[in-house]
Parts: sequence; C-alpha cells; structure tokens
Amino acid sequence: MSKQKRERNVLAFTGATALAVIAVNFAITAFKRRHKKKGSLDASIYLQGSIVRVNLSAAEILKLADKIVSKSKEVHDAVASVPLDKVTFMNVISPLAELEAQQFPLVQSCVFPKLVCTSDDVCKSSAEAERKIDAHMLSCRINNNDTVRYVDSMSMLISNREDVYRVVKAVAATGEWVSPEAKRYIQSLVRDFERSGLNLTISKREEVQRLRDQIDELSLQYVRNLNDDKTFLLFSEADLLGLPPEFLKSLDKAENGIFKVTLKSHHVAAVLELCKCAFEPLKVGRTRRLVAVAYGKRCGGINLSVLESLVELRHKFARLLGYSNYADYALDLRMAKSSSKVFEFLEEISASLTDLASRELLMLKDLKRKEEGELPFGIEDLLYYVRRVEELQFDLDFGAVKQYFPVNLVLSGIFKVFQDLFGLRFEEVLDAVVWHSDVRVFSVFDLSSNDLLGYFYLDIYKREGKYAHTCVVALQNGALSSTGARQIPVALLISQIQKDIVGHPSLLRFSEVVNFFHEFGHVVQQICNRASFARFSGLRVDPDFVEIPAQLLENWCYESFSLKLISGFHQDITTPIKDEICKSLKRRRYAFSALKLKQEILYCIFDQIIHSADNVDIVELFKHLHPKVMLGLPMLEGTNPASCFPRSAIGFESACYSRIWSEVFAADIFACKFRDGLLNQRVGMQFRNNVLAPGGSKEPIEILSDFLGREPSIQAFVDSRAECSL
Ligand SMILES: [Zn+2]
Repeated sequence: MSKQKRERNVLAFTGATALAVIAVNFAITAFKRRHKKKGSLDASIYLQGSIVRVNLSAAEILKLADKIVSKSKEVHDAVASVPLDKVTFMNVISPLAELEAQQFPLVQSCVFPKLVCTSDDVCKSSAEAERKIDAHMLSCRINNNDTVRYVDSMSMLISNREDVYRVVKAVAATGEWVSPEAKRYIQSLVRDFERSGLNLTISKREEVQRLRDQIDELSLQYVRNLNDDKTFLLFSEADLLGLPPEFLKSLDKAENGIFKVTLKSHHVAAVLELCKCAFEPLKVGRTRRLVAVAYGKRCGGINLSVLESLVELRHKFARLLGYSNYADYALDLRMAKSSSKVFEFLEEISASLTDLASRELLMLKDLKRKEEGELPFGIEDLLYYVRRVEELQFDLDFGAVKQYFPVNLVLSGIFKVFQDLFGLRFEEVLDAVVWHSDVRVFSVFDLSSNDLLGYFYLDIYKREGKYAHTCVVALQNGALSSTGARQIPVALLISQIQKDIVGHPSLLRFSEVVNFFHEFGHVVQQICNRASFARFSGLRVDPDFVEIPAQLLENWCYESFSLKLISGFHQDITTPIKDEICKSLKRRRYAFSALKLKQEILYCIFDQIIHSADNVDIVELFKHLHPKVMLGLPMLEGTNPASCFPRSAIGFESACYSRIWSEVFAADIFACKFRDGLLNQRVGMQFRNNVLAPGGSKEPIEILSDFLGREPSIQAFVDSRAECSL
C-alpha cells in the first residue's frame, strides 16, 4: 500500500552494580565538535558525513521537496539519453545508485518532521512535502509490504520511466558485472521495473495501474469499515464483575445507568481477560462470549465481500505481471520464496507444538472446570484462563518489576551491552542541532579502528503531536560512492516514554525495556551495514530477514546476567533485580506460547491459502481450519474472522507468516551462538561483520547459513518453548 511508509540527569552511582554503569558513562563521553558555524541551523555542518537536515523551516521543507523532484528528473533524463549501444555501469547504473543514496536522506529530512512534530506549520509542510514527493513517485511504486515498525521511504528509483528501464535492461544484457553486489543491484532494478509492469504493453501496464488503484482503495475500505464500526453492547455492573473500577468509570453509560462496552480492542481485551463472577459463573461465560462473538463478526457482511474482491483483484494483478497467483508475486521478494515453503514451514512448526499446546489447553480446561463447572471450553475462554493460570503460577507484580528499570539506567545498560558485544563505542554529540531539547545524538565508532561508523538520534520522551509508536527511522543509508567515499548511516529512534517529574524518575515497564532492546537492534543493524549500495543498507533488506537481528537481541532481556546489567532498584541502583524475578520473566515469556502460536498459525495459513488459490470460500475455509489447527476447538459460532483480520487485507497480505519466520531464525541464532556467551565479542563481531554488514547485498539464507555453519533450523525455537513450559 502506498502509505506504508515509522536525560541527561546524573544518577548517583554507588556500589558494585554502579561500576558497570559508570564504565558505560565513561564510554559515552561528551563529544563536542570544534568547528560549529555560528547561528547556522544545518545539523549536517556538525555531523560530519550526514546530509540529513534536522530542523528545516516549513518553507525550507517544501523547497527541498521541489529540489528532490527536479534532481530526480534531471538524473533520469541524463541516464535515459545514453544510446543503448553505449550503456555502461558508469554512465547508467552508477548515477542511479548515487541518486538513490543522496536523495534518501533529503527525502527523510522532508518526511520525518511529521513524526516528531514540533510545530503545526512544520508538520503540515512535512505532510505536504511527502505528498509532493509521493505524487512524483506514485505511478512508480511497487506494492510492497512493510513488516517493521519504522518508516520506510519510497523506493527512490522505481519509476515509470520506460526509457530508464530500457537503458538499465541494456546494461543487464551486457552481462558485465563490476562486482557480485553490483550484479544483484542491477537485477533488483530490473525486477522492480518489471514488477511495475514496464516490460508489458501500454494497455496491460495501464491495467496494472488500474488494478493497483482498486486494490489500494479496497484495502483502505476494509480498514475504514472496521474503524467506523460503532457497535456497542450493554451490560449491568454485575455482568462486568472482575473489571477494575477505573475501567468501569471510563465506560459511557446508557440512560438507565447500564454500561456501554464498545468493540474497540482495549474494551474487548479487558472483558476477555478479566471478566469473572464468583457467584454467577454461567453469566460470566455469557459476557465474555457475547463480547467475543460481537468482536468476531464485525463488518461481517461488508468486509467479507471486500476481502473476496480484494483477493480476486490481487490474483489478476499478479497474473498480468507474469506470476501464477498473488502469493507468488508477494513472496518473490522474500526469503520464503514460495507458498509451498510457507505452508511447509507453518505446518512443521504447528506439528512440533501440538503436544505442548495440548498440555496447555488441558491446564486451561481443568481450571475452567474448577471455576465454572462442567461447561465446554471455547475460544472465548482462552485469554481469561491464560491470565488466571499466570496469576496462580507466577508471583509477578509488574508494578514492582518496573521499580528496577529507571530509564537512564536501562539506556546506559543497553549501551554497554551493545558496545561490548559488537565492538562499538558510542559518544554523545552534545552540541548537535536537534529539533527538541529532549533529543540526544550519538556518534558510533568502531572500537578497534576508531573509524566513525554512523550516528543515531534518540527522541524517546512523550510529546504532544509526536508519532505515537516506538520505531526506528533510517534517516541516511550507508553507501559507497563511485569515488570510493563512504556515506555513513544515520538512524532515529522514536519512543513514548513518560519523562521524569520531580521526585519521580521515569521507570520503564518490562515490555518497554524489551521494546527498547528490540529497537536498538534496528539501530545497530542500520549503523553496522557496510553494503556498497544504499538499496541494500541496514533496514532495507528482505522483509523476512529485517526483524531477525532485533528479535535476536530481545533474548538479552530474559537472561539474569544481562538483565542485571540494565536494571537496578530506582531508589538504590546497587540493589539488583532478584533472580526469582528474572526467572519468572523468562518462564512467563513462553507461558502458553504453543497455544498462542497455534492461533497465529491459523491466521497465517488462512492468509496464505486465500492468496495462493482461486475461488476460495473464505467463510468455510475458516470454519474448516479452526478445529484442525486449534486442537479441536471450533470457531466461535456467529463470527467471521475473515471480516475483521486487517493484516490479510492490508500490509501483510500473503506475508502474515513473516513474524514467526524471523522469530524462528532469531531463536536458532541465539541458541547456537549467544546463549552461552551473552557478551562474547568474538561472536558478536562475527555477527556484525557477517550478518549485519552485508545487509541486503547477499541472499539472507546464504548469510544465515554461513554464520551458523549449517542450514537454519526450527529446533531451537520449538525447544525454547518446551523448556519453559509450565
Ligand atoms: Zn522491529
């Protein structure tokens, strides 16, 4: 879809735990630039090697957008004018590659201010600039999925310029490659042009464009229908027992004082997880069931037909482009490559988890029998009883856990882990120009050579108008110019942490700690990339591969050794987090994971079937798959999961499997290489040099197999769930 596009307070350190933190703070020494130009607003002057402009005015943003469009046209015109018998790498490919590398940070300079929104004018101008650049690129964009939480700018070179396609194709036909990476680059250019239909007749190309517009419109309509759904259910207070008073207070009421529960996910999740009634067990099941049914049949009539049309158009679109179905088109760019591989993968994982999932389900059924008597266990009971068992099995108070994660300490700890593991050194640039006083900038150096590798910005505190999610934005991609000069990568991490208020330090929830680790994985992935072409830089890699490094690094949050490095009781940070808490966090990570995965796999299989076969009855398909995958549990009667499953309609069509895919390979890498050496720099450097550095310049499967010394396997993923089972 076209818009897929993401304290500096000094802590009082005492005692042993603090030593590590102090060491980190020495490592993050202040780094002042000496040649600051007085009064200049251009950060690129301060950050040597960065052409990202971070604080342009509203007018400057619009001016820059115009410049980007005209520069792009100028280069395309020049390249297209090369006679077909005179094409070379230097006169066709090199100018296109340099345009891509140099334009990307400028595009991001126009687009990212919208996310960090410091003034209405700048924000509006940034959105307008994005539209301007989009309009120029619109007819040329491939319908690409985005599987990560960062803003992916458009593919700079995908253009509808048939004349450019012809010269690129002529270079490809010469078969003279400057390097294996250059060959891959040229092939990817040709492939992207052809995925836009440039090898087709004009009428077919127009048909491709028409279909793409219809697909975009229908997928947006599917989501709009869900967002516009205003259904609510009415319940008395007795029907909602178990829900906290503040939740009830937040609900609107009907005239007779009855509560209105909407079908927004925060209402539904609260009821399905918490609603209980000690005295009227039969009624409890009723509330959860009513809410689950209403939630599962949202937009039943309308969205089923939207999805049917959408799938039909997608197949048609893919066939015009020479693929046998839509899944083949979508998977062509991904590690999985084919539907049969995806089915094989999902079925293998599902089968490996069946025993564990059956034991988990039995545990839930037993508890329901104890609490509600001999009533059948339904899918609507899942969240409630998972939570109940977790309450009984884990002595985990997340409010108390939070006390061990003051944000500054966590950040210092994360820096230490990443620096030690990957042989890096972070230095804060204290006088860099930024868009808000909360924003910090760091240079990243190679520890042994002292070479500058890149920069990252941290904009982590909550602010009105700012993008509401945690994400990493690539601001500038690494690349090698034709003169041999290296453009260094620049990243931006955005999150929504509540800032300190006097006497109350910012404390992170454990889930936020894990998120931070994950996002730092993306930052390091971006910075450590050494590909020659910006197209293969850090985050612009195979979407099945891009999450693997970040998911791998989440594991450090579940091991006592590393968890202690990033935590300490906020009132006395020398008091480490207790071992029992660390163990409980790890066990809880995988509690009921087999059942939860089975449920996710069910949706992934559905998504893969509808996008790889014709004329599928999507209602019957769900009914058939549900008990088969979910250990005999039937689909909740009256629901239409296909009508309210937006991932399959927009953004992840035919690629829902991708999250599990990358988690499986991340688990394999962790178990094989890091579990027994969480700060093993030798292995960390191998990962940096052999996995992060090549990025998209090699086939991901080749990268993983070389690093592991064998083909990747699902075993570690399955074992990790079984080891931590309840
Ligand atoms: Zn991610």
